[in-house]
Amino acid sequence: MPTTATSQLITSVPATGPATGPAAGPADRELPLLRLGRGADPQAERGVSCPGELPPQSDPALVRRAEEARARLGDRAFVLGHHYQRDEVIRFADVTGDSFKLARDAAAMPGAEYVIFCGVHFMAESADILTSDAQRVILPDLAAGCSMADMAGYDQVEECWETLGDLGIAETVVPVTYMNSSADIKAFTGRNGGTVCTSSNARRALTWALEQGTKILFLPDQHLGRNTAVLELGMSLDDCVVWDPRRPYGGNDPQALRRATMILWKGHCSVHGRFTAEGVTQVRRSIPGVNVIVHPECVHDVVLAADQIGSTEKIIATIERAPSGSAWAVGTELNLVQRLANDNPDKRIVFLDKTVCYCSTMNRIDLPHLVWAMESLADGRVVNQITVDPATAAQAKTALDQMLALP
Ligand code: SF4
Repeated sequence: MPTTATSQLITSVPATGPATGPAAGPADRELPLLRLGRGADPQAERGVSCPGELPPQSDPALVRRAEEARARLGDRAFVLGHHYQRDEVIRFADVTGDSFKLARDAAAMPGAEYVIFCGVHFMAESADILTSDAQRVILPDLAAGCSMADMAGYDQVEECWETLGDLGIAETVVPVTYMNSSADIKAFTGRNGGTVCTSSNARRALTWALEQGTKILFLPDQHLGRNTAVLELGMSLDDCVVWDPRRPYGGNDPQALRRATMILWKGHCSVHGRFTAEGVTQVRRSIPGVNVIVHPECVHDVVLAADQIGSTEKIIATIERAPSGSAWAVGTELNLVQRLANDNPDKRIVFLDKTVCYCSTMNRIDLPHLVWAMESLADGRVVNQITVDPATAAQAKTALDQMLALP
């Protein structure tokens, strides 16, 4: 079972408030989540989530144990499976989907006392924000973070906002944060009049934001921001600047910040960032007539080289509707691509990158962790609960509600 210290470590800290105070520096604040390689306790990165009780992957009774634990939990539990999860986990999911769909699905099941989120940390946080106080959100492995979400630290974003204020432009800037961000970044966004977006509604979110102000601070994925601004809103690449939190003025000339419409946070997805335009060329050469479809988290050159761009849900729908015999090269997470290939045997479906690459943090949720979490809950031990403090949750919900209200 997790120690009390671990539970505190995973509990998001208030974005503002007396416990930490807005001026608290990084050393004074609790970590809002487990950051890979940067946890306050180095041991927290491995094994703390289920000491001594994790069944071995080789346990031949693992599937039977999962079935029994799931049956013991019954309607008290609702298991969510993100599209990027392993098949061994997905088979026990009551519902599958992208992060926002799953959080809403959980909120629509108020009778489920335990929401077991097979995904990553920011998704579990969003589920905790959107579900009732009576529901407990469980992440089977606390080390299942997201490298992209970790690239936008709360203090870094506050520092950026202060700098924009010093330049006299903060009041013209509307923050828009991708769903793939921590609860405290969503809270920052809500507090400053912005909105959350997903890869499905990014265009609507940016259009709305530009009706509220003249500039956008887009967090934390520069590629989704750039691809949407340029390909869907008709901006030029020169309308975009990248904010590097490690450099003064984000690495920009102050005049460039004043001129820019899009201030893109220097974050990216380590999985989608692997695909290259050269890879698109190679797959076209090796599979004549192939259709290339990629996620908007891919770099701009890859998106330009592809035939289609789409969110995870759009990629699934497009391939399911595609004619028999068609060939597809897919630029998104490998677990999903393999599942699409298995579920569509009448089509040829290949991974766009030559190198096999799963999302390493998504992959942390495996059957042993799921069995451990379900058996613990069935035995009355609440483990790996993800909680967002009420102040942060309220501000983050403001930004989530704004997304739901987008025209
Ligand atoms: S696929 Fe990318 S954005 Fe999604 S959880 Fe993994 S690192 Fe984060």
